[in-house]
Amino acid sequence: MQSFDVVIVGAGAAGLFCAGVAGQLGLKVLVLDHSEKVAEKIRISGGGRANFTNMDVTAANFLSENPRFAKSALSRFTPADFVSLVKKHGIAFHEKHKGQLFCDRSAEDLIAMLLAECAAGGVERWQPCGVKNLRFLASSPYGSSASSYEIDSDRGTIHCGAVVIASGGLSIPKIGATDFGYRVAKQFDLPLVTPRPALVPLTFDEAAWAPFAQLSGLSLPVSIETGGKKDKTAFLEDLLFTHRGLSGPGVLQISSYWQEGTPIRLNLAPGTDITAHLNQAKATSRKLIANELAALVPSRLADTWVAQGTALGHNWQRPVNEASDKALTALAERLARWELTPTGTEGYRKAEVTAGGVDTKALSSQTLESRQPGLYFIGEVVDVTGWLGGYNFQWAWASAFACAKALAQA
Ligand code: FAD
Repeated sequence: MQSFDVVIVGAGAAGLFCAGVAGQLGLKVLVLDHSEKVAEKIRISGGGRANFTNMDVTAANFLSENPRFAKSALSRFTPADFVSLVKKHGIAFHEKHKGQLFCDRSAEDLIAMLLAECAAGGVERWQPCGVKNLRFLASSPYGSSASSYEIDSDRGTIHCGAVVIASGGLSIPKIGATDFGYRVAKQFDLPLVTPRPALVPLTFDEAAWAPFAQLSGLSLPVSIETGGKKDKTAFLEDLLFTHRGLSGPGVLQISSYWQEGTPIRLNLAPGTDITAHLNQAKATSRKLIANELAALVPSRLADTWVAQGTALGHNWQRPVNEASDKALTALAERLARWELTPTGTEGYRKAEVTAGGVDTKALSSQTLESRQPGLYFIGEVVDVTGWLGGYNFQWAWASAFACAKALAQA
């Protein structure tokens, strides 16, 4: 039987980074993954260029039942630490928007970097290799360590002192996402926060959405919010119309906070006093309302907005100087506070991440070890979910680093 200090399940962002650090700290590490290809999610991330971190990371950029949990790991491995590593490997990168850092060339550069770090730590990697069973041995029959594990894998039974679950969440099942980590948590009686798709497009009732479906592909900056007085969350980001609903960065961000059955609210012309603009137009212009509106929002949206309002009984298809103040105010208010209730999301097929996961109550924020001795959980499988913008990778790196350090000190 082969024996390792640590077996890491999942050769994704968190698993590979943890393996490299632990290996370089002197541990004998095996990382295994049931997929044929390594780190497929990194490969497809950030449109193929991996938004690998964000220069401005705090615990406030993450959702969790315990919002303070991520603080410790995030403070001990920062975006600057990861940037140093990226620079050491000569990978060119750039800042795109709001502190988001992307590879200039390709996400492949990042994967090559992680594999080089693993090689420098003498890490063994088995792919494809699935796990059939995981057994805890209360005292190790093989050596000095107090407890250990046996893993039945597709390549035989393995013995190890510690197991790190880095198998990610449920998003994008077609590239290998599974509920493995949640099943392991259940096996050892560790609690779960119910997983749900996050950073995901929102969908609407087909008939209600029909007038807007023709806007598919249109994007514009909006402010978007959800929640009530006590738990309101808002973002100022782009919105993208789709055939079935809404997507784009603003909607993906708000989707992580959105609760089923509740509305979202949009301002389609943020930072503009729409009423003042229309009132001024009324005094000086004879153009159609839609044409005046096109100064504030894309003209396709202005046309649809006016037509839709007319279908609802407003007389908005007329010259602006002929409209009543009341009609213009109603139009401005609806544009500045468009409230609509999604019927659902596009689900794990399209979600960038899974919110929820292994409950942090059962984990140490310092080491990521669970209350089951020698069993660690890192990355997306944990109930820590980042905003869009490189935060999820930063959590993968930071949780992996904290875990690797702890393993080396165990
Ligand atoms: P993963 O990277 O998902 O790795 C988990 C690994 O475990 C996989 O290789 C999987 O094959 C393996 N595995 C699963 N089940 C088993 C099993 N039963 N046995 C063995 N192996 C198993 N985040 C950002 O910060 N920036 C971005 O630009 C970004 N873009 C994204 C784009 C898309 C389209 C998607 C889907 C996600 C994106 N994310 C991005 C999120 C980010 O990719 C994840 O949060 C991150 O990869 C999580 O790392 P992880 O190591 O925990 O899990």
